[in-house]
Amino acid sequence: MTPDFAVFDGHNDFLLRLQREPARREEIFLQRGASGHLDLPRMREGGFAGGLFAIFVPSPATPGTPSLEEITRNPPYDSALPAALSPQAAQPVALQAAAQMLWMERAAPDDFAICRNVAEIRAAMARGAIAGVMHMEGAEAIDPGLDALHVFHALGLRSLGPVWSRPTAFGHGVPFRFPGDPDTGPGLTPQGKALVRECNRLGILIDLSHLNGKGFDDVARISEAPLVATHSNVHALCPSPRNLTDRQLDRIAESGGMVGLNFATIFLRPDGRRAADCGLEPMLRHLDYLIGRLGEDHVGFGSDFDGCTVPDAIGDVTGLPHLISALQGHGFDKMLLDKLTCDNWVALLERVIG
Ligand code: ZN
Repeated sequence: MTPDFAVFDGHNDFLLRLQREPARREEIFLQRGASGHLDLPRMREGGFAGGLFAIFVPSPATPGTPSLEEITRNPPYDSALPAALSPQAAQPVALQAAAQMLWMERAAPDDFAICRNVAEIRAAMARGAIAGVMHMEGAEAIDPGLDALHVFHALGLRSLGPVWSRPTAFGHGVPFRFPGDPDTGPGLTPQGKALVRECNRLGILIDLSHLNGKGFDDVARISEAPLVATHSNVHALCPSPRNLTDRQLDRIAESGGMVGLNFATIFLRPDGRRAADCGLEPMLRHLDYLIGRLGEDHVGFGSDFDGCTVPDAIGDVTGLPHLISALQGHGFDKMLLDKLTCDNWVALLERVIG
């Protein structure tokens, strides 16, 4: 059965899986797997037509410290920010991640395309190829002089978050804490402000997800582009510092920006737990709230597939049709569903990357 909806998604961490096991990349990408959330056969089955693919440089594990997976199981929790990474340490890893995305296009040219603008996104989707937009989650690989920004832009980078939940030369991310407020520290550094201006100039989307409150305000003040949080939810419904306060949602709305609904249970559930037994109800509540606050043209999905624990009721990308059925049952009509699943992201990207 062909899914009725083509989903364009604001965030996934699939490249990290390829990067961790490059020797198994053909199997991981091309064959239907039982672990993880994404691979080509399952993207097809779930109606996943494209999205932002994140380049991410993991922090080294600290022996004796519990993992984020363990920490987030039982709120309340408060974990220290991981240490900053130097551009010298981060650049080779980020290049390897970008190389995985270039390899995906080489390995399956009929099925996957790196898209540098919306004309390329539309062309890929029209020929049935998955439209991938290169995103960077945390700008550790960018030197403060921004030379590497131009290198990655030439490779296809069209979206960038100045920080993951970690400090960079550009700004400060929010910690993994629950409950908590996004106002956790200082705003963008002078280099961070220069980064925002250069991204504006190059047509690179600036992602506010993971950025702290003062950093958010700095981007809001400086950026000429609509404000976008690719994978964040509603703070009033789930008080995580990763979620957006009403004031932040209003700034995004004023700018004509966009929020992608994060499927991670730690950002959906009122209790902030990493526990998949919550059904789809929390997703409906966050979507209702986002649509109420931003309007129906400014909300989409930002699944965080392959980077988080999603509700059992979704499971992996093949569960997208279940979510869409639930939204139909919730009273969302075809026009609204087209906007949420794809059209809003494409329209937003057209305004930002061209
Ligand atoms: Zn993230």
